[in-house]
Amino acid sequence: MPKIIVAIDGYSSCGKSTTAKLVAKQLNYPYIDTGAMYRAVTLHFIQNHISLTNQKEIETALNNIQITFRRHGEKGRNDTFLNGLNVEDEIRKMYVSERVSDVSAIADVRHALVAQQQRMGRTKGIVMDGRDIGTVVFPEAELKIFMTADPLIRAQRRQIELMEKGEIIGIEEISENLKTRDYIDTHRAESPLRQAEDAIYIDNSMMTLDEQVELVVRLADKQIALAHRRKKEQAQHG
Ligand code: C5P
Repeated sequence: MPKIIVAIDGYSSCGKSTTAKLVAKQLNYPYIDTGAMYRAVTLHFIQNHISLTNQKEIETALNNIQITFRRHGEKGRNDTFLNGLNVEDEIRKMYVSERVSDVSAIADVRHALVAQQQRMGRTKGIVMDGRDIGTVVFPEAELKIFMTADPLIRAQRRQIELMEKGEIIGIEEISENLKTRDYIDTHRAESPLRQAEDAIYIDNSMMTLDEQVELVVRLADKQIALAHRRKKEQAQHG
């Protein structure tokens, strides 16, 4: 069967990554969390005191960053590595969340990461989630999903996620962070978050995780069958 690209975009903490990871598992495709890539760059900038207004410093820092993913464990954990170091837990912490949208609004940062993401999807057969996957990274993706959920539900989900990692943060602080990130992500000059015209809109506030995964897999299967049919027709018509 031909391979397709599944692009999942949407607001922070709306369950994109959890859904995307499980969809990838069912399709037997690799999963790339592009938010983790922006978070890893942000962590590097914080650790190395990179000024966000000094282009030379930013360029040099970007040349010194290598981001990779490694799958491990039964649950299919996909850990993020920054220059060979596992930073999966560190990049999810609040101090990184507070800076990530400012870092990801920088054009040089976006160009470097988008180029890497496009290389990862060169041979298709990939599930990628983020903010600009269906609009900028893979505008030709066969399946585009735009996911969202009620803001309070998103904040509650994020609070549980942080709690599981030992960080106890009040719901107001989390809501404020999500609101700020949404604003910066949708208003930045460089590839702002927006729904691609041909993306399918899913509000998952009232859906279980199983329902979301099932829906996206069903849509992906449809696109795979369509790509298969097109390929056959092309072969028949020479
Ligand atoms: O998905 P997650 O919430 O971990 O992403 C963290 C931040 O990374 C987002 O708030 C956004 O600023 C940035 N991001 C982006 N483009 C992407 C993925 C994430 O700008 N494709």
